[in-house]
Amino acid sequence: NQPAPYRGRFAPSPSGPLHLGSLVAALGSYLDARANHGTWLLRIEDIDPPREVPGASSVILRQLEAHGLCWDETEQYQSQHYARYQQHITELNRQGLVYACDCSRKTIKARGPHYTGFCRQRGLDWADKALRLVNQQPVTHFYDLAHGEVTADTGWSSEDFILKRRDGLWAYQLAVVSDDRAEGITHIVRGSDLLTASLWQLTLWQTLNQCQFDAAVALPQLRHLPLIVGPEGRKLSKQNHAPAIHASHAAHNISIALQALGLKLPPELTQTPVTEQLAWAIDAWRQQQRASEPGHVDNFTV
Ligand code: GLU
Repeated sequence: NQPAPYRGRFAPSPSGPLHLGSLVAALGSYLDARANHGTWLLRIEDIDPPREVPGASSVILRQLEAHGLCWDETEQYQSQHYARYQQHITELNRQGLVYACDCSRKTIKARGPHYTGFCRQRGLDWADKALRLVNQQPVTHFYDLAHGEVTADTGWSSEDFILKRRDGLWAYQLAVVSDDRAEGITHIVRGSDLLTASLWQLTLWQTLNQCQFDAAVALPQLRHLPLIVGPEGRKLSKQNHAPAIHASHAAHNISIALQALGLKLPPELTQTPVTEQLAWAIDAWRQQQRASEPGHVDNFTV
């Protein structure tokens, strides 16, 4: 069997403009796709209207373009795919794999560090409740292209995680897996803050593969990028008010983001147009990748 052609994506939430941390995720996924002659898609993960900043989606699109990160195909919006998410709930429920839960964070915490299926047998009706997956076959480890073997605490990986929130909004885990499958994503390259969420996502991916009404889709390859931390050692994020990146400093921003990815631009390229910087970076990324392949030796002499 030939492997499916490379399809990667960048999937920002429109909770604010891109900052340096999100630029690193965008750039890492872009370089990996281009270095592998792949397709690079953009998906706006707008499933959480209360956390959405008005206008942020179009700001993100303009920021990406200004930094030379041009995506293939038409950008997708998660808010357009609610019917598909609902269909997964129906399929999973048909297999007895969904149940309602009315536990608050506080009550869960009072019982222990993990949610251990407290509501599984309670048979609650679904109104105004969170919906959880019966996590029958948790994925407990996977091979990450940057980190190698990743294993999680089994208490965590075997939790019955939430598919739909109590407030009626779709949970990130369900939406992201549904879209990655639907868009034929073969490679997920993103920040290391999502390393452990990957176990739940692989579990859900595999569970959907086993639902007889859904066609099986090969599991994606994963690569988690280094996180950028601010001066106080905290992750740069919108919640921590990381500053937005400006189009007028695009070349500078790209050179900083490249450094974060372990690539140092030659001095003559630090102020050139971003398209030239990116062309260099795609090649450098490819070489770096080759150098880290198992069995590869550099300057081998006997
Ligand atoms: N939307 C998520 C975020 O902005 C990222 C999702 C992903 O790359 O899987 O943190």
